[in-house]
Amino acid sequence: FKINMDEMEVLGELGKGNYGSVQKVYHRPTGVMMAMKEIRLELDESKLNGIIMELDILHRAVAPEIVEFYGAFTIESCVYYCMEYMDAGSLDKLTGTGQVVKTATSPGEEERDLLVPEPVLRRITAAIVRGLSFLKDELQIMHRDVKPTNVLINTKGEVKLCDFGVSGQLEKSLAKTNIGCQSYMAPERIKGESQNQVSTYTVSSDVWSVGLSIIEIAKGTYPYPPETFANVFAQLTAIVNGPAPTLPKGYSADAHDFVAKCLLKDPNQRPTYAQLLEHPFLKADKDADVDMAGWVASAMERQSHRGVVPLQEVEV
Ligand code: ATP
Ligand code: MG
Repeated sequence: FKINMDEMEVLGELGKGNYGSVQKVYHRPTGVMMAMKEIRLELDESKLNGIIMELDILHRAVAPEIVEFYGAFTIESCVYYCMEYMDAGSLDKLTGTGQVVKTATSPGEEERDLLVPEPVLRRITAAIVRGLSFLKDELQIMHRDVKPTNVLINTKGEVKLCDFGVSGQLEKSLAKTNIGCQSYMAPERIKGESQNQVSTYTVSSDVWSVGLSIIEIAKGTYPYPPETFANVFAQLTAIVNGPAPTLPKGYSADAHDFVAKCLLKDPNQRPTYAQLLEHPFLKADKDADVDMAGWVASAMERQSHRGVVPLQEVEV
């Protein structure tokens, strides 16, 4: 079926990104709550239609770890993209920003009440890796924009990926002019970009972004804190040449090893998705009984006490 704007009741803004905003909408004909992303593009009609056609392959992207796609349409020079509404938002909003409780037990020793307990972090990571593996094996695409704002979660505790690069035309039009002060790009991508090379990277660049995202989700802060660098150039230099960041204390050796392997500087040394799924850190997820819904509820509760309202609910 084809969806259009007339069928939508706009309920409020879920968030803003670099290219537009995401609204919570109610689709009257089906009674489904959706997230509608508006992307402003300065393109002619044929290019816009090309994007809509390319987005169509999203209808084949059906997996438990992928946010469902409902359809897309254009109005003037905007593309509107409708997807499954995830009622707990993106993981950055759920664990940001760094409210890790520190309780010093004995001198020189630090114990942390982990923001994200290991079984929860493990399950989130497993979902991300399975989702990426599905995209690669079933649709032959790499994500290209793995970061905590593109990992969504709902109050059932389901973790799903969104905003992966399906449309070449859309990617081109969004031409990342600013790498930004929070880069999740792998060192080889940053190097390629600075030398104006096109596509010097492969699927293992996404593996780097997975490692960085896991650390950010665990800590509640971006692993290369901007305030510790003189400028963006210094920050990017640290990503390319400096030591890779690590998980906070309190996680197992397996968890640390998993992240360290994702963050190897040489892309050829990074594990494949199949290898990551076989890693002891993720293996342990298989038969684990993890109360994801309970963790989401407590995380939302904590964020609301901090004055961070994960979602702006608007009365209809
Ligand atoms: P960028 O523009 O660099 O991709 P971003 O991912 O934060 O950054 P958007 O993709 O525009 O930007 O999303 C804005 C915010 O909207 C996200 O951070 C997320 O919190 C929220 N959001 C996006 N999609 C959904 C969804 N399907 N359900 C609920 N919230 C969503
Ligand atoms: Mg996004």
